[in-house]
Amino acid sequence: MVSNSKMMIRKIIYTLGERLRNPSLKIKYGFLKESEKWSLEALESYQLKKFKELIEVAYNNSEFYKKKFDDLNIDIRKVNSLDDIHLFPIITKKELIQFAPQIHTHLTFKKKFLATTSGTSGESLNFCREEEADSFNRAAIQRGYSWYNIHPWDRNGYFWGFNFSFVNKQKNKILDVLQNRFRIFSYKEKALKSFIRKSQKAKYIHGYSSMIYQTATLINKLKLPKPLHIKMIKGTSEKIFEHYQSAIKEAFGVKIISEYGATESGIIAFECEEGNMHLNMEGVLVEEIDNEILVTNLQLHSFPIIRYKLGDYISLAPREKKCLCGKNHLILDEVTGRIGATVHGFKNTYPSLYFYYIFKNLSKQESVFLNYQVIQSKKGILTFLLESKLTSEVERKLIAEIEKYFKKDIDFEIKQQANFIYTKGKLKNFISKINE
Ligand SMILES: [Zn+2]
Repeated sequence: MVSNSKMMIRKIIYTLGERLRNPSLKIKYGFLKESEKWSLEALESYQLKKFKELIEVAYNNSEFYKKKFDDLNIDIRKVNSLDDIHLFPIITKKELIQFAPQIHTHLTFKKKFLATTSGTSGESLNFCREEEADSFNRAAIQRGYSWYNIHPWDRNGYFWGFNFSFVNKQKNKILDVLQNRFRIFSYKEKALKSFIRKSQKAKYIHGYSSMIYQTATLINKLKLPKPLHIKMIKGTSEKIFEHYQSAIKEAFGVKIISEYGATESGIIAFECEEGNMHLNMEGVLVEEIDNEILVTNLQLHSFPIIRYKLGDYISLAPREKKCLCGKNHLILDEVTGRIGATVHGFKNTYPSLYFYYIFKNLSKQESVFLNYQVIQSKKGILTFLLESKLTSEVERKLIAEIEKYFKKDIDFEIKQQANFIYTKGKLKNFISKINE
């Protein structure tokens, strides 16, 4: 009974906060729980309706899009199928940053939030997101949680960035109390142990997957008491490597699932209970072009984002692929990796995706899953950091794979049992120190 009344209080606190901040969230959530049952055709016709609305808003209220569409002689009234999206120009992050004032629409909204996201070269993008779009996105996340019987007010552990200022820390503390959340601020063993202690009562854990993996490894290694009430572990922002799964399952009893999204686009996909990543089709329109993702945010009207090159390599499942969970939303097979910085050989340049292939091939042939990080400080030279110790056989195969992709254009060294470098708490698989 005690825990029941505690839960009620949590629910009330959460609901009050939500009503204040996101008054339309409840309606959006109700809609998404309905559309969850729609056929693919119904979902696509909704997408077309929202897409038409979006281009109309963009054309009539954004200087940037008006000029772009006029320059390309696009008649927005002629759009009558989702395929017509190909007529529209592709937009890059650079443009979003550079033309942010002109991209913002002149529409007025009752309530807006400021969103910020950083670019690869350091500059940040700031834009306004209207309450309805913000609520829609939160509702889409909550829908994903509902697949695991998680309520947004459930006790949860959060692995997220550090180096907060004092003011930010206080603000986060308040937000954490409201959302029944505790979080971790450092990688030190003491902090991890305290986090694990707090996890005993948590229903779910979320955040950077590399940190969740590290914590799981620590629980297993030190034989710490395992959290017993975890229903969902959700990784965000980083690639979830297959080999994380066994350690995480051992420590928490469930596998880690992925949520894929970005500040600009909102939630793009959420993994279902059957292990497929369903596109959030009501919120975004996703295209795969030359293995790259282009995303259109169907809900955001204050700052239209149309055919945005998000910077990830993806692979969409064929339309026919059906999921046992019964949802008809298209499936994202894999987020293959960040497009990120290029690798510099002595003569040529290469995509950093090569690393993904090298290690994927190795895991296929040898069934060894290696946790890796590659550092480039000088042109033509790479340092491969590996978490584990390799057998000489595996090392030989790894060298062969590296040489297959880079030929003799790269000199490299392999450091085993190495410590990775974290950038603001995030594990990047490739760090380039070369200024392009
Ligand atoms: Zn499914």
